[in-house]
Amino acid sequence: MSTLARIAVENTVYHFDKLFTYLVPEELYKTVRPGVRVTVPFGAGSRERVGMVFDLDGQEGEGIKTVLSVLDREPVLDREGLGLALWMKNRYYCTLFEAVKLMIPAGLHFRLKDSYVLSAGFTDFDRENYDGLSWQIIMALRSHGRAMPMEKLSAALGITRDCPEFKALQAGGVVCRVNLAMNRVKDAVSKMVRPIPGFDGRLTPRQREVYGVLCDVGEVSEKELCYFTGASPAVVKALCEKGAAEVFQYEIYRRPEALAAEEDNDDLILSESQQKALEELTEEYENAREGSRCALLYGVTGSGKTSVYLKLIDHVLAKGRGVIVMVPEISLTPQTLRRFQSRFGDQVAVFHSGLSLGERMDEWRRVRQGRARIAVGTRSAVFAPVQKLGLIVIDEEQEHTYKSEASPRYDAREVARYRCARSDAFCLLSSATPSVETFHMAREGRFRFHKLEDRFGRAVMPEVQLVDMNWEDHPGSEHAVGMALGEALIENFRRGKQSIVLLNRRGYHTFASCRSCREVVSCPNCSISLTYHTANRRFMCHYCGYSAPLMKKCPSCGSEGLAFRGLGTQKAEEQLRELLPKARILRMDTDSMSGRYSLERSLHEFARGEYDVMVGTQMVAKGLDFENVTLVGVISADQTLYSDDFRSGERTFDLLTQVVGRAGRGRLPGRAVIQTFAPENPVLGLAAKQDYFGFAERELAYRKAMLYPPFVDLLVIGFVGGDEKLTRRSAERFLQELEGLARGEYAGLPLRVLRPSPAAIARVSGKYRYKLIIKCQNGPRFREMIARLLTAFAGLREFRQVTVYADPNPNRII
Ligand code: ADP
Ligand code: ZN
Ligand code: ZN
Repeated sequence: MSTLARIAVENTVYHFDKLFTYLVPEELYKTVRPGVRVTVPFGAGSRERVGMVFDLDGQEGEGIKTVLSVLDREPVLDREGLGLALWMKNRYYCTLFEAVKLMIPAGLHFRLKDSYVLSAGFTDFDRENYDGLSWQIIMALRSHGRAMPMEKLSAALGITRDCPEFKALQAGGVVCRVNLAMNRVKDAVSKMVRPIPGFDGRLTPRQREVYGVLCDVGEVSEKELCYFTGASPAVVKALCEKGAAEVFQYEIYRRPEALAAEEDNDDLILSESQQKALEELTEEYENAREGSRCALLYGVTGSGKTSVYLKLIDHVLAKGRGVIVMVPEISLTPQTLRRFQSRFGDQVAVFHSGLSLGERMDEWRRVRQGRARIAVGTRSAVFAPVQKLGLIVIDEEQEHTYKSEASPRYDAREVARYRCARSDAFCLLSSATPSVETFHMAREGRFRFHKLEDRFGRAVMPEVQLVDMNWEDHPGSEHAVGMALGEALIENFRRGKQSIVLLNRRGYHTFASCRSCREVVSCPNCSISLTYHTANRRFMCHYCGYSAPLMKKCPSCGSEGLAFRGLGTQKAEEQLRELLPKARILRMDTDSMSGRYSLERSLHEFARGEYDVMVGTQMVAKGLDFENVTLVGVISADQTLYSDDFRSGERTFDLLTQVVGRAGRGRLPGRAVIQTFAPENPVLGLAAKQDYFGFAERELAYRKAMLYPPFVDLLVIGFVGGDEKLTRRSAERFLQELEGLARGEYAGLPLRVLRPSPAAIARVSGKYRYKLIIKCQNGPRFREMIARLLTAFAGLREFRQVTVYADPNPNRII
């Protein structure tokens, strides 16, 4: 019988994180097992913290502490999950518990808040029936109303969990510990809260705690947030006032199942090329144990890649194994999601941040217990506890959403491959525009490669026209729609067909600048211009959440001559209305689509022909499948082309190919008009020809010449601090230490380090940001060196005010 356990503890810092050894007291022998959560005393003050038991092992040592309690009756992680957490720590420089938290639903985590309520049926408020303390407890809970955390009870009454009166009340059914099964919050939620990331102002401990929870879960209803954290709405209000969170409305908030379609795919018959791909994939799936565990399914837009993996999933399920399907963003792919749900019904569990916490827990449980065998969802779905995992499908594998930009900075594609390797499962990457990294691997023979080169049925690829906007009548004016696109839109409307117009700008983009001093109205905390939102008539910063009401005077010189520039979706919509006064126009952007299901509803209406034109940001570019859309227009293709990032060419090509691919998917041929000021740019030319292979060859040649992935790995070390000089010095010091190790103990590692430089947006939320770019080969020795550097660096007193993090293969170089 082992009496020791090794445990990962919550809220540790990276440089101090490891498995800590604890003594298991005799009464917990039976319940302390790998994969269950416990509470342990931690640190100098021995404060109670949550931990995850990794194994029953460890070294007896001096001052060893004892496990306090066990939180789970059944393990919430299995051996595979625990192994994955260890792998993630090594790979992404996070703490073990951060990795653990990704794998268990947030709701499960909060239950740990030791909170109590009076039992629902309790009515016996007769003072005479209780001793003094018991009565005080009852009154405290009653006046508190909601779940009352133990710490509050202790503070109010000086009791602990083990106090006999308190225990007796629980045994007598008067008081119960809040647990989800008994008191699920489930209603048509409307008031939602989301955090403003990177908030750095002053918060009370309570507010900070709730803010931390918000950052963990993303969007959540206020009700649920209060319920799970035991906070009152006043705390939420205070967070909003301080700019740490914001409240927004969901128009409707329904279970995704309610949206399941009538359609049924029972008689799905594959085309010849689909069938061929399926047969090859099925064979590879069967041989995954010996052969390559990974394959790429390249298929032009509209070729029916989804049909192929629906059939492959049939096969995998028939063999008694489970499936994960990852999609880039749930709101972009309601149609795909519906196809899964109508084909596999209850077998499908959904994972994404639009679900309430309770729903997330339900779905997680259904998968863990094997009741649902297919998990469909966004990035985090890669952690779904699918039993007997057989297949992971990654749809549109090039999408940047698969890489997390907050700690743990994991890449779901890598996690997927790791899980497949551990479970003898098969990983299928699918795309019309695979990332050149993936294409490279497939070409080198490390992945199998399958192609669907024609659209399904009789649909043909659209004809694409590049329009040189330099020759338009009023060049440089802010007229969105040029002549050629204007004519095409009028013609298409006349024929009763639908059009999609993409405004290739991120988000909403109107800024103001001063006519006299030429200053752009900028965020006081960040080195970035503020964006004007007509919806709430405020200037807003997309980085720190700062906002200011519409001003008349220039904040720099005080003169009254602010000019608004840039083209937002609203302006584009206005211009389209002038052009097509009779057309019904649907605007799609984050302003007009505040809730996921309002987006979903709009898409339904568009599909039913209630609109003629859809205009919007990136949101309209991907995944949509409407057979009546025969024209796609792109207003300025150049926007993504000139961001100074090595992936900008790839992103532009991807976006254009995808949006062009929305046209002519049905019986009628489609066309696309792309406006540009750089018609000679080869990326645009290749996108217009929809020549993926030409593009990939060219891009790979460039990456090779410039030494970028896939020819090297990148690691960006980020430095964030309030003092600019200190932040820069910390980056220089890191470089120095790195060079020392690279010349000494780690000599021989292939490595190229660029000099420290300010981040592209050098100041965010009042903090300065520097970066260090390392081109390397991301192997075990390299990671060991970086882990050592990060750990040592955290120990330097001089740089205590600077936060350092490491981001492997980031989406963009910050
Ligand atoms: P992709 O994801 O490759 O762009 P989709 O999977 O969206 O393509 O398929 C394009 C269209 O063709 C969809 O409307 C889909 O329903 C239809 N389709 C594809 N394959 C089949 C099939 N085997 N039988 C019937 N319809 C199909
Ligand atoms: Zn001015
Ligand atoms: Zn800002």
